[in-house]
Amino acid sequence: MGDTSDRVVHGLRIQIDREVCVGFADCIGVAPTAFTLGHDGVVTFTEPEHVDRAVLIEACDVCPVDALTVWNETGAQIVP
Ligand code: SF4
Repeated sequence: MGDTSDRVVHGLRIQIDREVCVGFADCIGVAPTAFTLGHDGVVTFTEPEHVDRAVLIEACDVCPVDALTVWNETGAQIVP
């Protein structure tokens, strides 16, 4: 179900819900090294491993439609 993309970075599991993302690019504004917009106008990962953990969390947290979900090392959901 759904159309998602996952990446594990700095112990965080980050998931993009491609059906929810509307391409506002707020996340890219916070972490331009971690995310970019694809040709379809939906965000994709670039080099999130080169972004500080706290900045990654912040970038996911600013998404206005909660398309980005983050779980920590213990499996607890910390964003949104
Ligand atoms: S902030 Fe949310 S809606 Fe905007 S590009 Fe990022 S994931 Fe997509």
